[in-house]
Amino acid sequence: MDYLLTEEQIMLKDMVSKFSKEKIAPVASDNEKNHRYPADIIAEAGELGLMGIAYPTEYGGAGMDFMSYFLTVEEVSRWCASTGVIISAHSSLVCDPIFRFGTEEQKMKYLPDLLSGKKIGSFSLTEAGAGSDSGATKTTAVLDGDEWVLNGSKIFATNGKEAEIFVLVASTAPGQKTRGVSAFIVESNTPGYSIGKVEKKMGIRSSSTTEIILDNCRIPKENLLGELNKGFKISMITLDGGRIGIASQALGIARACIEDSIKYANERQQFDVPISSFQAIQWMIADMWVEYESAWLLVYRASLLKDKKVNYSREAAMAKLKASEVAMDCARKAIQIHGGYGFTEDFNVERYYRDAKITELYEGTSEIQRMVIARSLLG
Ligand SMILES: Cc1cc2nc3c(=O)[nH]c(=O)nc-3n(C[C@H](O)[C@H](O)[C@H](O)COP(=O)(O)OP(=O)(O)OC[C@H]3O[C@@H](n4cnc5c(N)ncnc54)[C@H](O)[C@@H]3O)c2cc1C
Repeated sequence: MDYLLTEEQIMLKDMVSKFSKEKIAPVASDNEKNHRYPADIIAEAGELGLMGIAYPTEYGGAGMDFMSYFLTVEEVSRWCASTGVIISAHSSLVCDPIFRFGTEEQKMKYLPDLLSGKKIGSFSLTEAGAGSDSGATKTTAVLDGDEWVLNGSKIFATNGKEAEIFVLVASTAPGQKTRGVSAFIVESNTPGYSIGKVEKKMGIRSSSTTEIILDNCRIPKENLLGELNKGFKISMITLDGGRIGIASQALGIARACIEDSIKYANERQQFDVPISSFQAIQWMIADMWVEYESAWLLVYRASLLKDKKVNYSREAAMAKLKASEVAMDCARKAIQIHGGYGFTEDFNVERYYRDAKITELYEGTSEIQRMVIARSLLG
């Protein structure tokens, strides 16, 4: 669907595709099997400008649009969904709120290192008792002189092991739920900050997911991000953009399933003919492609609206809901097309299947996306 893109966007997509095929594809499976973070790849992605695509050059970004970011995350995720989410969580969930809600001092202090990929970011909203109900945050932030004192623990922080800069949400008015939480910027070298449990996951194993423990963690007063008690709103706006990132990751996984299935179906012979000559296989591939392109157009539209700076909450939720369900469906069909071999580690489709599932869960489950869409329709 390149006809919908500008020349600059096509050039970027081609560059990211080449980088992904040459650098990411050869190591993706091995890294994933060994739960290995792709440090070299992320460093090189930083040099290519991929860690700060949609941010102005004055802060060290690549100065491109959000559409270019979606195309990048899709291309990378085509080969490695873990690398896709490392870039997406860093960019959408950390760079974006600092860029949108940060003071000029905060932007100048944190964005250059983040956008160049010198430092990795992580976003910490979820807690053991605050998942879909993210306003139920129990972690507290209390002002003591010129410092905020943070206490509590967050869970499931993507990039938690590698990140040096966190955007973290804590309660500043206990009992007020969504009206009493604020966002903060926390550096990982702050005394009282530590990493707790590192999750062992079903998929995206090259990206870390950790608990963050805050034990009398003192941060400067000026590290409040945005207005006091507006952290819930900041998180929801941040997640709107994040959902396009996850939808792009899901598109990458879906495309991987389709491309690998086409190759396998043309090579695998049964009954003396390639299995691609069976209508049952052809229809699965046709259905996968129709669903992929439908999801792609929804992600394209949500990105276009974000670039035009108009409200896109519903469109982002629709894009994420559709793309994640398409990724899951394509992964299931890809294994079916690969037969028994698809169930083994000899082919990548088993990895795609494990990776696809997370896209229906994080940054709002499919049920939460339906809730967002229904609320915006029903009023
Ligand atoms: C690998 C991974 C990475 C993650 N990365 C991050 C991160 O970087 N930062 C971060 O803050 N969080 C992160 N998360 C957390 C993720 O966003 C949450 O897991 C997710 O939002 C769901 O919350 P929960 O797990 O507590 O499930 P719950 O909220 O307990 O939901 C359980 C089930 O109940 C359903 N449900 C809940 N409420 C409703 C409702 N009102 N109506 C209908 N159904 C409902 C859900 O859809 C789901 O099916 C990550 C999670 C994982 C697994």
